[in-house]
Amino acid sequence: MNFVRLSQYFSELENTTSRNSMVGILAKLFRETSEGEVDKICYLLQGRVLPLFEPIEFGLADRMIIKALGRAFNKTEDQVNKIFKAKGDLGIVAEQLRAEAGGKGDKLLVVKVYEKLSEVAFFSGPGSVEKKITMLSELFSNLDSLSCRYIARIPLNKLRLGFSDMTILDGLSWMLSGTKKDRPAIEAAYNVRPDLGFIAETIKTKGLAGLKKTKPVVGTPILMTRAERLTGGEEIVKKIGRCAIEYKYDGFRLQVHFSKKVKSQKAKVKIDGQNLGLFEDDKKEFVRLFSRNLEDVTNMYPDVVQGVIDQIKAEEAIFEGEAIAFSTKTGEFLPFQETVQRRRKYDISQKAEEIPLRLVVFELLYVNGESLLETAYQERRKKLESIFVNHDKTNLAKKTVVLSEIQICDKAKKIDEIFSEAIRKGLEGIMAKKLQGVYQAGARGWNWIKYKKSYSAKLEDTIDAVVMGYDFGQGKRQGFGIGDFLIGVYDSQTDKFLTVAKIGTGLTDEEWRTLKVSSSKYQAASIPKRYVVDKAMKCDAWVEPKMVVEINADEITRSPVHTAGRKMGKSKSGTAETVIVPGFALRFPRLKTFREKQPEDATTVEEIEKMYKRQGH
Ligand code: ATP
Repeated sequence: MNFVRLSQYFSELENTTSRNSMVGILAKLFRETSEGEVDKICYLLQGRVLPLFEPIEFGLADRMIIKALGRAFNKTEDQVNKIFKAKGDLGIVAEQLRAEAGGKGDKLLVVKVYEKLSEVAFFSGPGSVEKKITMLSELFSNLDSLSCRYIARIPLNKLRLGFSDMTILDGLSWMLSGTKKDRPAIEAAYNVRPDLGFIAETIKTKGLAGLKKTKPVVGTPILMTRAERLTGGEEIVKKIGRCAIEYKYDGFRLQVHFSKKVKSQKAKVKIDGQNLGLFEDDKKEFVRLFSRNLEDVTNMYPDVVQGVIDQIKAEEAIFEGEAIAFSTKTGEFLPFQETVQRRRKYDISQKAEEIPLRLVVFELLYVNGESLLETAYQERRKKLESIFVNHDKTNLAKKTVVLSEIQICDKAKKIDEIFSEAIRKGLEGIMAKKLQGVYQAGARGWNWIKYKKSYSAKLEDTIDAVVMGYDFGQGKRQGFGIGDFLIGVYDSQTDKFLTVAKIGTGLTDEEWRTLKVSSSKYQAASIPKRYVVDKAMKCDAWVEPKMVVEINADEITRSPVHTAGRKMGKSKSGTAETVIVPGFALRFPRLKTFREKQPEDATTVEEIEKMYKRQGH
């Protein structure tokens, strides 16, 4: 396929807000692609050259694209800048300049353009910015005007076609059968290997039957399982019977990928016969750490990496645990506010010394070539214990990687006692795990149950919400450039975000600043396609769905101005659309913390509804 053809698809996708038409367009696109290019097209659809979990970014700012355009079309930077000021979108600027320059431009193959963009993304070190600008300017001068629109947007991370991975999975299902019937099978493979390029390429080359054989691989994060909630030992025993109880540690979840076989990550991209490897380190062991939202955070936690190398004796393993700060004096775990200071990009080793982490491991998903996803919890646990060097409790203070403690219980009273003990120790609560439960990659299920301290009389858990937009502040907050901000939850049925509250209080100055920095980074030119917002909740500025915040609230109530769970219909007397059932809204919402989550992992409308009902409605 030529890149110009792909650009026509980009344009069609850009011009629709309907999810069904997006699925149809994607299916048509996928049908038209051949093996060897469908994977690259999947990454390009996300505005990338590799899956999201690979830490490779273009690292280009507006200024550099302006330079590349100037160079391609014989303009000064000032001239390009002037058009940019008028149009507000470098994609449109590129398209216009290319059209004005005349000529049709070459029909480069998608694969060729992909290679060039990969080079742009991979080059680093001295002189790399200059090289990136030169390569882009060559692409601009060689391609047609519509292609230029997208070539400008991709390195700026502004492709934003307005759909999530789930829509791409639907597109693949439609490609196969013209219906969504294959989506569950495709999604099951995606949960184990959330690499859209791999998924699409496997379907093309091996069909659905080939895809069903998908196994975990070291280096590709598995979508993490999630827990249901209950609020007492009695309920837990009734639901899953005899079970394993673990403390619920309040840190952050890490999925560890470890191998003695993969000495360094194999080169993933070949350009002109030359390997552009991702992690060409010469360490003996391969260790990668992934956060809850599948971000590669290996570089942030050198102490955990060393702990894994010292204490894991498998050839290959994928396991999970909670990283949490602890006091070197007393050995006690520290509150989340301490742990969270380790989530940083600078002064890493200094902070690692000040606030050492302990990784409390609670899951084994894969070991020495064998997937354990379908194995019962009890068996997984046994294997987990067997891959630790000296997993006894001696010298615990010196160990970075430790096993979670478990107690097998079948009595509600005992579970409640362990819960109280956990709270006394300053932990968040407990996790109950079904002994025969498998690991449900990417799903929330009853194989894991969380029982947390309630934050208020009515609402039993916090809510993870997506920041959707904000108003410019007044008074003191004018200084931060941000006032009230609008938050919403996820509707997996429609792949949209629906509002539940506008928040204006309860943030520290530092939190306001963090919110402003991220909001500016993800600022959207207009309301994103996936938002459903009542006009009463309109914001001064809109933000792409990227930031997830954890919210405490007193209660879930009903409100006509919020769209989560709201039902619209014709009024009895007239034809106007009116609110038939008001939406869900949060009473006294307060920010608890910023979460490392994908927006699609935020609390869902269904969960809000369940929480609302549990309040006694
Ligand atoms: P969810 O994961 O349910 O979407 P969440 O990210 O808000 O929600 P919590 O409500 O805090 O998470 O509960 C699950 C989390 O608890 C896990 O993701 C993990 O980080 C943490 N956790 C702490 N201790 C354990 C444990 N022993 N077993 C499993 N998870 C644990």
